[in-house]
Amino acid sequence: MSRHDTGAITAAPGQRVTVPLAPPRGVAVMHPLTGGDELDLSDALGPLTPVAAETALLLAGGAELDGQPADGGALDALVAGDRNRLLLALLCASYGAPGHLIMTCETEGCGAVHEVPFEAAMFLGAVPDVSDGTVETEEGPLGLRLPTGADIAASGGSAARLLALCAGGPVASGAVAQAEVWLATADPCAEIALAAECDACGAAIGGRLDPLELLRAEMGRWGGVLAEFDLLARRYHWSEAELLAMPAHRRRRYVRMVWAEGGATARGAA
Ligand SMILES: [Zn+2]
Repeated sequence: MSRHDTGAITAAPGQRVTVPLAPPRGVAVMHPLTGGDELDLSDALGPLTPVAAETALLLAGGAELDGQPADGGALDALVAGDRNRLLLALLCASYGAPGHLIMTCETEGCGAVHEVPFEAAMFLGAVPDVSDGTVETEEGPLGLRLPTGADIAASGGSAARLLALCAGGPVASGAVAQAEVWLATADPCAEIALAAECDACGAAIGGRLDPLELLRAEMGRWGGVLAEFDLLARRYHWSEAELLAMPAHRRRRYVRMVWAEGGATARGAA
């Protein structure tokens, strides 16, 4: 049900990333974060709900929707999978696409840790064909629309409330399973499921990729943006204004160079 235009999307660090959106929207563009964006976010994200934190990140990444700068309301009105794909695009633009994800086998007595290859372009291209539709259920036809960020915020974490928002009213229990299958199929990035097989014991390993958590982890990877500023200011004597304006990806290249020339003390402390 979804298109996978993997060849059409390039996501190089330091570059803008263009992502197709569910109809009626066309495309979004995400820009790489600068040090100043990261510093603002490091203070702002803490008290926010997940949906509000996602929107703050997308605003910081200068999200454009169909050629216009987006405001928070427009971003909250995007379907959940589009928001997840834009967060992944922001991650790729700002820091580079992760080449693999770490997954741990939870079978009792195993606990093997795996590096599972990750193809960001595959997810970036998984755009829904439709934003609404009619599903045949045991209770009869049911009209549904894909959940937006605003719906998720309004549901307060209740799956039944979220489904009711998508259906425009309560959904009979006999229709819930088919409705949920339709929603998951129509917008595969609303919840990104990961699956692998454990090399050690053969068990299936499942997990959920949360782009918000991935971004937050990446932003804090080396002790936070201020620790990186501190390292570079000592080595290159750049001003704070210069560091604030520098794209995150380029700053990290300098940080790696400092480490490579023997700044291992700073790395050990991070
Ligand atoms: Zn295992």
